[in-house]
Amino acid sequence: MSTFKAPKGTYDLLPPDSGRFLAVREAIAAPLRDAGYGYIETPGFEDVRLFARGVGESTDIVSKEMYVFTTKGGDELALRPEGTAAVLRAVLESNLHKTGNLPVKVWYSGSQYRYERPQKGRYRHFSQVGAEAIGAEDPLLDAELIILADQAYRSLGLTRHRILLNSLGDATCRPVYRAALQDFLRALDLDEETRRRVEINPLRVLDDKRPEVRDQLTGAPLLADYLCDACKAYHEEVRALLDGAGVRYEDDPKLVRGLDYYTRTTFEFVHDGLGSQSAVGGGGRYDGLSEMLGGPELPSVGWALGVDRTVLALEAEGVVLDLPPVTSVYAIPLGEAARRALFEKVTELRRAGIATDLSFGGRGLKGAMKSANRSGARLALIAGERDLVDGSVQLKDLESGEQHAVPLAQAVAEIQRLLG
Ligand code: AMP
Repeated sequence: MSTFKAPKGTYDLLPPDSGRFLAVREAIAAPLRDAGYGYIETPGFEDVRLFARGVGESTDIVSKEMYVFTTKGGDELALRPEGTAAVLRAVLESNLHKTGNLPVKVWYSGSQYRYERPQKGRYRHFSQVGAEAIGAEDPLLDAELIILADQAYRSLGLTRHRILLNSLGDATCRPVYRAALQDFLRALDLDEETRRRVEINPLRVLDDKRPEVRDQLTGAPLLADYLCDACKAYHEEVRALLDGAGVRYEDDPKLVRGLDYYTRTTFEFVHDGLGSQSAVGGGGRYDGLSEMLGGPELPSVGWALGVDRTVLALEAEGVVLDLPPVTSVYAIPLGEAARRALFEKVTELRRAGIATDLSFGGRGLKGAMKSANRSGARLALIAGERDLVDGSVQLKDLESGEQHAVPLAQAVAEIQRLLG
């Protein structure tokens, strides 16, 4: 073992398990691509003020969890704690919203960094796939995104995920609700930090998981009762569209999210097999964010799904993904001349698109066969000195154990035939 370890709150993705992470990313991305979302990639770090302004100074993410550093040139940067603010920054900077039809629909995949207290399902470095539809206020879009996330989870074989849905209102109705909620919260018996939160971000108090706070929240005013007519109609439309698509959701009038920029539709995907870190993804509408970043009015909606927790959800449900075998053919050269001859065949097979690996380091038959079996390959391609004198190689079916000789020159064609 080396003297170094992965930093606290992080872990390494190693083969073969890493194959599941790739499959999860792909499963989330596939429905997005099919629905017209284009791939976007932004830097892993940004001007720290982008997050302070975009995510909100009072949020845990910005106030406690950001990795901030000063460059040699004196720039104050932060490792990105989430994707939306950076994606919107990139769209505004490149004028994507001016060049094509709105909405600009993009998806991303990448690492996020938050200095959180690590536990199972909560890491300091984690991975998200996200989608954003920028520049249109249309309930069809909110519904589309929720349906696409549901489709992604289902395509992976998950069945125990649930969708929680709420509306956070808009600039007209939320301030009225906020004031009513503050009146209610100020009368409660709360610790100092929570009392401060009541003044800065009272909606977040509704999200408090501690029983002593939860118990006091019964009877708190609900945003649903304060929604203006426009927000109410919008929300009803999103619900009807989800009903029409046969996507089940639960109305959760207390659902708020940890980021300041959400308006109207807010949702979270939870999985019951995950214990306390049950959110596998979340998102919502953020109609005011563009203006907060100095851009024009661009009402938008998006989500981010956690790859790490989706993998944990698969484990919790006992879903085994049907991953394509990494290797189809495993070549075993026995002796110096065979190494050259088989290496040529291996290269030919790979160029023909057949996943092929081989035994390195001049290993003997027994050890090499073990590796062949472990690789999951269907066929072993074996050649010793005597086979080569005959101008042939041995093809062994690793499932049935059957073996037969084929002329060296026809080995690739024969393998193609056998693999269909
Ligand atoms: P958020 O950006 O906080 O809305 O998170 C969206 C999703 O990212 C969550 O539902 C989780 O699946 C995932 N996520 C957020 N924070 C973490 C973390 N610290 N560790 C692992 N996954 C996370």
